Parts: sequence; C-alpha cells; structure tokens
Amino acid sequence: MSARAEPILVVGGGIGGLAAALALGRRGWNVRVLEEAEEFGAIGYGIQLGPNVFPMFERLGVAEAMLRQAIVPPALVMLDALDGSQLARVPTGDSFRRRFGHPYIVLHRVDLHHVLLDACKALPNIALEPSSSAAKFEDFGDGVRVHTKEGRSIDGAAVIGADGLGSRIRAQLFDEGAPRFIGYVAHRTIVPMARAPQGVLREEVVLWAGPGYHIVHYPLRRGTLFNIVAVFRTPTYAEKANAQAHRAELERTYRSARPEMKALLSLMDLERRWAISDRDPIRHWHRGRAVLLGDAAHPTLQSLAQGACMAIEDAVCLAGLIDAADGDFAAAFRNYETARLARTARVQLESRTLWEFYHAEDIARDVRAETVASWSEDHMFRCLAWLYDGFALPGGHDRP
Ligand SMILES: Cc1cc2nc3c(=O)[nH]c(=O)nc-3n(C[C@H](O)[C@H](O)[C@H](O)COP(=O)(O)OP(=O)(O)OC[C@H]3O[C@@H](n4cnc5c(N)ncnc54)[C@H](O)[C@@H]3O)c2cc1C
Repeated sequence: MSARAEPILVVGGGIGGLAAALALGRRGWNVRVLEEAEEFGAIGYGIQLGPNVFPMFERLGVAEAMLRQAIVPPALVMLDALDGSQLARVPTGDSFRRRFGHPYIVLHRVDLHHVLLDACKALPNIALEPSSSAAKFEDFGDGVRVHTKEGRSIDGAAVIGADGLGSRIRAQLFDEGAPRFIGYVAHRTIVPMARAPQGVLREEVVLWAGPGYHIVHYPLRRGTLFNIVAVFRTPTYAEKANAQAHRAELERTYRSARPEMKALLSLMDLERRWAISDRDPIRHWHRGRAVLLGDAAHPTLQSLAQGACMAIEDAVCLAGLIDAADGDFAAAFRNYETARLARTARVQLESRTLWEFYHAEDIARDVRAETVASWSEDHMFRCLAWLYDGFALPGGHDRP
C-alpha cells in the first residue's frame, strides 16, 4: 500500500486541524478529521490575523476567500485606560502593506472556519467526522489507532493532535497536568455597529490598556458588527458564576477606567467567560507516530494575537515535511519541531512580556508611557519584523 493510502488522523477540527487537513489533502494524502463537537464550527467572535499568515493561506489556496470576508483596519491603536491618551499607533494601511507584503486583517471566526471547511469539503480525500471525541490512541510503530469516547476505533498512518489547549493527545504523550492559569478572564461580545458608543474608534483595532485590565475592540463584516473583548485579573477566575455576579465584578474592576470603556462594558454579554492560560514552551511535540500542533503544542497568551496564525503556520510546515518524508513520520516530526520550536516559543514568551506591558500599574505605567513616546513607525515595524516577515518553510518543501 502506498504511504498516502492509509489516512492521517487529525484530532480536532479547529483552525489548526482544518488547516493541517487541507494542507495534507491538497498534497494527495487521505485525511480523517475527528472533531468532538456535533458540528464543525467556531465560537462566534472576531479574530485578528497578522500578515505572516497570508503566505500560508496562499499555499492552502484560500487567501482570496479570506480577504473577501475580512476587514483591513487602518491601524492598531493602544490607548491608556486611565487618561485616554494614545500610547502607540501602528499604521496598518499602505505603508504596512508595502513593508510586510501582506495586510493585517480582522474577521469573524465563523467566516474563517467556513472558508477552511469549504476548502476541505471540496477535496474527496478529506473526511470530516463530527461527534468523534478522541479518548486515547495506540501507537503500533507502523500505524496508530484512535479510540473515541463514542466507542469507535479508527486506524491511521499517524495522528496529529490539533485538539487545542486541553489536548487529550498531549496529555497522553506528556503527563504535565493542567495549563498555567494566570488569574485573568475574558468576556467576548459582538453587537451591531450602530450600538458602538460615541467617542470610540470604530475602524481601528483598539486596545485600552489599564492596571490589571484591558479592552480590545474592532469592526467585523464590512463594518456592520463591533467585536468587544474585556480581559481582567480576578481571584474568581476559576469559579463559575452568573452574569449578575460578573457584572458587579466588572464594575469594581474597571472603576478607574475611562467613561468610553464603561460604555463598552455596558454592552457586554457576561454569561460566558474564559479563564486565560498558557504553558511553558517544550522542546518536543512528538513521540513515535503522534505529533501536536497549534494550541496543543504551544498555547500562548493573546497579547500578540498570533495563536491561530502559529497553528496555521504549523499546519502548512508539518504537511510539507510529512509529504517530503514519504512515510518516514519520525523524520518528518523531528524536522517539524526543529523548524517551528524557536518561533512559537518566542511568541509564547514575548506574549507574556507584552501581557505585563498592557497591564502596567503605577510607576510601571509611567515607564510604559515614556518608553512608547519615542516609537516611530519605522521602529515599530522593525520590532514586529521577526513575526510579520513570516515563516520560511524548511528548504525544498515549500512548493504550494
Ligand atoms: C480571548 C481570545 C482571543 C484570541 N484572539 C486571537 C487573535 O486575535 N488572533 C490569533 O491568531 N489567535 C487568537 N487567539 C488564539 C486562538 O484562538 C488559538 O490559538 C487557536 O484557536 C488555536 O487553534 P487550534 O486549532 O490549535 O485549537 P482550537 O481552536 O482550540 O481547536 C481545537 C479543536 O479540537 C476539538 N477537540 C478538543 N478536544 C478534542 C478531542 N478529544 N477529540 C476531538 N476533538 C477535540 C475542539 O472542539 C476544537 O474544535 C485568541 C484566543 C482567545 C482565548
């Protein structure tokens, strides 16, 4: 049997899993994507994607479809939450496009997911299998078997764990316990643009940076929708509560914030919250015929808005190396780790530093203002170049 006949099993049909399936499928591999949810889909909020993701979208054949769904904001703006002053403004218009060769975009996660899903559905060699929750896998040396909670056993040539922060595949490979919760939570909301408060920028990606809290907002879907994310530190991050309790907590936490921020908070749906966490970088993401990608491999804080971008870069890189190794999965997985480790670890570690910067208090807040005051456009572009200039796929394996 040829190496490609036996399917590769992708556990998790999120952004990284679908990108991996598409990248492998386009190269002629048979793929089965096992997703625990009853339907393939995304939680319905916004997402920002840096220009580094575009060369990957081009290889996946979805760049134009993504752009049709996206908004290209004029700038990323950082405002001080206490006095409303502008701390930094990274222009993302013409000069950004000239410098990085691709745009910075924001789009609805549902739209991003649909583009990837439609592209997968168009390939007969990709099987999308909802209601398939991986419980464990066996590695026989020359193949794998995934057992699902629903009682099915599925055989394949190798398994890719793209099952996110709480990855079952990672838990079986490395027994490390829970992710590192940092004591912050996020609430997310989308409202019609007509409800966006007066005095708030509507076209830009805006981050209001406050002591122990921040708010991010930006437009979606041709400017008809307004996406708001409120993030703050709280000792109750691990507790379940109701919207009323959350509202009281927000009012206490954001009492020093600008009135525009309070107006934004009044729009928030507070039913659901996400506890923010990451993990320390690790050197190895594979054992035998099992490998990890995306949040399963290197979960990161959201400060650089790059978790999904890294998952997509992983997917394209891994598929190229699997294809080149033609059946030697151990070699492919080793080369993939080597290619991806430093870049993804840098995203994890710099995101932690940036997290402190966003939430600076007291004297640290003064230092932040002093630091950013001298930042020119050129300086900011140079600081972002390691990330936005993109990822060079390992030599020889970067054909589309
Ligand atoms: C508040 C917030 C804002 C963010 N903003 C950005 C941003 O602007 N830009 C950006 O690039 N990133 C952002 N991120 C990060 C980004 O969402 C993640 O990095 C990205 O979704 C990771 O993709 P993934 O495919 O690895 O994992 P996920 O998207 O988590 O997908 C995992 C999938 O696996 C499925 N699954 C889980 N367990 C199993 C199992 N046992 N069996 C089968 N299926 C399973 C899940 O149902 C899910 O579909 C943000 C994250 C948060 C929390």
